Amino acid sequence: MTNNQEKKFYEKTPAERRAILGKKFGLSADELKAMAADARPEGAQMVENYLTDYRLPEGVVTGLVVNGKEYTVPMAIEEPSVIAAACNGARMTAYAGGVTAEKADRLMIGQVVMENIANPYLYRNHLLKQKDEILKIANDAYPSIQQYGGGAVGIRVRCPEDFVVLDLLVNVVDAMGANTVNTMAEAVGRWLSSKGQTVVAAILSNYATDSLQSVSVALEFPDVATDQMKGADVAARIADLSFLAQVDSYRAATHNKGIMNGIDAVLIAAGNDWRAVESGAQAYAAMEGQYRGLATWHVVGDKLIGKMTLPMAVGTVGGSIGARQLTATNAKISQIKSVPELAAVAASVGLVQNLAALRALASTGIQEGHMKLQYRVVAMRVGATAEEAGPLADRLAHLDHVDEDVSKEELSKLRKEQGHD
Ligand code: NAD
Repeated sequence: MTNNQEKKFYEKTPAERRAILGKKFGLSADELKAMAADARPEGAQMVENYLTDYRLPEGVVTGLVVNGKEYTVPMAIEEPSVIAAACNGARMTAYAGGVTAEKADRLMIGQVVMENIANPYLYRNHLLKQKDEILKIANDAYPSIQQYGGGAVGIRVRCPEDFVVLDLLVNVVDAMGANTVNTMAEAVGRWLSSKGQTVVAAILSNYATDSLQSVSVALEFPDVATDQMKGADVAARIADLSFLAQVDSYRAATHNKGIMNGIDAVLIAAGNDWRAVESGAQAYAAMEGQYRGLATWHVVGDKLIGKMTLPMAVGTVGGSIGARQLTATNAKISQIKSVPELAAVAASVGLVQNLAALRALASTGIQEGHMKLQYRVVAMRVGATAEEAGPLADRLAHLDHVDEDVSKEELSKLRKEQGHD
């Protein structure tokens, strides 16, 4: 490479890339300055073609009680109502003694997929007999995990259609484990190829059914009462909505979206691969062929019982967890010290998030609370400053109809009143 001009885009510095894009897409000096201000040297080590860090608002859910311990949990999310709803759900469940989280399983699955096997079921038995050798190959491919007490510990063999799938079960200890498992699965894949098999894929499955986390809560009816509705009526309606999410995929998708609002936000703030948990959760929601709500609510006697089980492939080390200072700071705030604790707390946030959403839906409707917070974003969208957003949102909350024109009009009225126009 003789000069800068010959460097490929990915070889350029972040500042050079920003300058190129600035020219090509007409970015203003202020826009480029803002991007430069948010750029970090560590970020450039994390992704290809790095430009800057894309920030998300971070807040905390307070007063969340899980297994008798009170947590303050950082959540990173752009949707205005999520943390407020999580706090509301945490408060309701804390009255009832908090969420109970069972000890989760902790194995990840690597799939080694073969095709063109003459007799899949005979070959399945043949593979099962070679378990010890397969585990040795896997462990030799990633010996460092054994020093932490982990490693490949088991195999299963399945035969979906004409494929033979060897599932390698790996204890990944405190890591999420994708790279660890992929390395092991590929080593086993190479060994099977050397034996003449046609290996079509060797990769982690995000359907982490050996890392299931269960959480539950038992609420008294007064815990869910609202100003307008008795607790027993709210509880009955929540149970109806829960049933609807078991039988209607349209409702189930939104039910689960609310749960994942909480879980994803916790996992982002904990530096985890939240897409991995999302995909596992969504697959688990459809495990019986019918896509269902992940959390269920039943009235049993004089209690409202909420339960949820889902795969939680999380980690406290590995990946990019150690690459951001804020992740370490967030771990100090949450005081989460282990993978089982992170899985339990994240799933609990999902459950209380669902409770808050269903209670609002069962009583005043989702928009009342949602819009109060949404109006602040609407205010920013029509050009309000951070100082103007609160007062403008209050004004919008009192109007019958709010759209962009109305918001702009109210903003100019506000400015006139404040003598700024
Ligand atoms: P990793 O590659 O960083 O491996 C974990 C490392 O931590 C290992 O080297 C291990 O030896 C070390 N370690 C130190 N202390 C440990 C302890 N107490 N327990 C366990 N390991 C310990 O990360 P990973 O967890 O193997 O993979 C996670 C990364 O892979 C994430 O960045 C994820 O986004 C990415 N990824 C995900 C997928 C997927 O989900 N399908 C696929 C590929 C990659």
